[in-house]
Amino acid sequence: KSKESGRNLVRFFDPTLESAVRVRAELEGDLRAAIEHGQLQLYYQPQVAVHGCLTGAEALVRWNHPLRGVVSPADFIPLAEETGLIVQLGQFVLETACRQLAAWAGQPDFADLSIAVNVSARQLRQDDFVHQVQAALTRSGANPVRLKLELTESVLVDNVQEIIEKMLALREIGIGFALDDFGTGYSSLSYLKRLPLDQLKIDQTFVRDVLEDPSDATIARTIVALARALDLGVIAEGVETAAQLDFLREAGCYAYQGYFFSRPLPVVDFEAYVHRRTQRAVCPTA
Ligand code: C2E
Ligand code: MG
Ligand code: MG
Ligand code: MG
Repeated sequence: KSKESGRNLVRFFDPTLESAVRVRAELEGDLRAAIEHGQLQLYYQPQVAVHGCLTGAEALVRWNHPLRGVVSPADFIPLAEETGLIVQLGQFVLETACRQLAAWAGQPDFADLSIAVNVSARQLRQDDFVHQVQAALTRSGANPVRLKLELTESVLVDNVQEIIEKMLALREIGIGFALDDFGTGYSSLSYLKRLPLDQLKIDQTFVRDVLEDPSDATIARTIVALARALDLGVIAEGVETAAQLDFLREAGCYAYQGYFFSRPLPVVDFEAYVHRRTQRAVCPTA
């Protein structure tokens, strides 16, 4: 009895543990409500090809918390994954991105743009994942060819054959796949041969110091060479400066994404960005 209350006492008076647990529980409840009450929003970050044309955008989720303000996905995606809320969250992201694609399909400046959606391992492991994606496409009327899914190496931890089969089914209808944060996971290179991928995404940790750190420069160049040799596209994330862009272009990287072009933007601002580029004829109309 005394041992029991002693333990409770310790727990009660451990402010870090107590508040960490409480904040987490609170956050979980809030996130559940956020999904139901439409506090989640997609931001769009431009993806630009080597010749300067905008090819699409990555959809990045934001949480407009009534008290905390805009919460970064880094602060709630891990929680969503642990609690399983990622399934509903991912569903919302897919539906929203598909509706956006359908809305853009009728507008000349936007019709050719693709949207890349991040898919977490837990979401992909859902039995009905393929059906969920198809349903989102059908409901919205979006063209599957414009939808790209970003996976990380964490999907390769188990049941790889099952993952590959899902990818193949989705690829059949025209959906593309990018391997996100490439080079930061611990997967074997042999998976690159087996996975039906379209693009490697060079992680921003290699791009950040690409000019100062010779190892990062070598890694970035090697990923580009690997992608080209395997006949895959390659995009660099986290491009912040003209000098980084020059390096990557020199290395043969086809596409870029980062603050140098734009931060992720709410859809209205993203549309304004696209219009500004079109007016400046950044990309000669094909
Ligand atoms: P990610 O997919 O690797 O996305 C790239 C992250 O880098 C984004 O952070 C983006 O805002 C940030 N970024 C882009 N350009 C630059 C740059 O030039 N410099 C720097 N320092 N950062 C840049 P964000 O939006 O905070 O998202 C973080 C991560 O959260 C994403 O990493 C992704 O793994 C995850 N995430 C975001 N949205 C979703 C989603 O809808 N579903 C799932 N499952 N995960 C998501
Ligand atoms: Mg991504
Ligand atoms: Mg990434
Ligand atoms: Mg990343």
